[in-house]
Amino acid sequence: MAVTNAYAVSHAGGRLAPTTIERRELRPDDIRIDIAYAGICHSDIHQAKGEWAGAFFPMVPGHEIAGTVSAVGAAVTKYQVGDRVGVGCMVNSCGECEYCRAGTEQFCVKGNVQTYNAVDYDGTHTYGGYSQQVVVKEAFVCRIPDGIGLDVAAPLLCAGITTYSPLHHWGVGPGKKVAVVGLGGLGHMGVKIAVALGAEVTVLSQSLKKQEDGLRLGAKDYYATGDESTFETLAGRFDVILNTVAAPLPIDSYLSLLRVGGAMVNVGAPPEAMSYNAFSLLGGNKVLAGSMIGGIAETQQMLDFCAEHGVGAEIEVIGADEINAAYDRVENSDVRYRFVIDVSTIAA
Ligand code: NAP
Ligand code: ZN
Repeated sequence: MAVTNAYAVSHAGGRLAPTTIERRELRPDDIRIDIAYAGICHSDIHQAKGEWAGAFFPMVPGHEIAGTVSAVGAAVTKYQVGDRVGVGCMVNSCGECEYCRAGTEQFCVKGNVQTYNAVDYDGTHTYGGYSQQVVVKEAFVCRIPDGIGLDVAAPLLCAGITTYSPLHHWGVGPGKKVAVVGLGGLGHMGVKIAVALGAEVTVLSQSLKKQEDGLRLGAKDYYATGDESTFETLAGRFDVILNTVAAPLPIDSYLSLLRVGGAMVNVGAPPEAMSYNAFSLLGGNKVLAGSMIGGIAETQQMLDFCAEHGVGAEIEVIGADEINAAYDRVENSDVRYRFVIDVSTIAA
């Protein structure tokens, strides 16, 4: 066992504070990573507050991990000491079920093991990236291509893949009109990736406060959802709507913005239920869908795509003592556009 410094929350809704945790000795197929940067995802906040079912404490959040390999197990073939790597939301799955074999480990029948706040198949609890080191099975590690900084790459491991996967799945590309709802961590990645895929992108934000940024990121249009006329102006316009909002939305209003056959994909995960009227889908053969992260192979594909297109996250790098303040800012929609912890500031 190796002891490593970390930041943990001790009870639901508690504040993050320094602690130490143990990382397992390397198994033959394990990699030890010295973490350089860890992104703060809104999912970390939902879980640290106990807003989703099944939280256990102490919890070390963090599933947007970027760093360098510091040791490899005897059977590791893909990575060497010094390689630049990333870890996202999963660290294990059965590897045998139809979904694992199809490269969609997030839907593993036995249940994928999440990077933190989960019990691994050996009964140990997982702890996430707000820590100096992590030990992860080789199959759940991705390569960060040269040309993307580790700091701007970290958010790709969740925000990047969570937006890339549905945009890809729903055929976003040249000639398609896409709306991204919410310009936060996921939303700004959704805009950048949809633009890189060649689509015409519109941001739907609560207000026009971030309009300049949205247009700089490549969006063609930017509308305030707080303005009722927006829904009349944009009726029937979009092929795909990507909803990244961490709160319930009036689904029927958004469905009215889809073209015939269009799809609204929810990636936001508010704890509250949302409802819709059947006729909002029937009148136009519309699709209301969801999407959860992406498989490991697709995550690698996304990282390679982002490197090729010069796409990284827009980040604000913070010290570990600023995590609690960053959580408050994310909850107030005051993130521009992902907080990334400089892990060298995590002291014992
Ligand atoms: P975030 O950075 O807080 O971004 C969410 C954005 O939604 C905000 O910046 C804000 O943008 C908008 N928003 C917030 N409250 C709103 C409200 N009441 N009404 C309308 N818009 C509102 O969060 P994130 O890290 O991108 O995560 C977003 C959600 O996705 C979270 O629920 C998270 O748990 C979930 N998530 C899901 C997956 C998955 O696999 N499906 C993966 C990661 C995260 P504007 O100010 O521009 O309106
Ligand atoms: Zn996340």
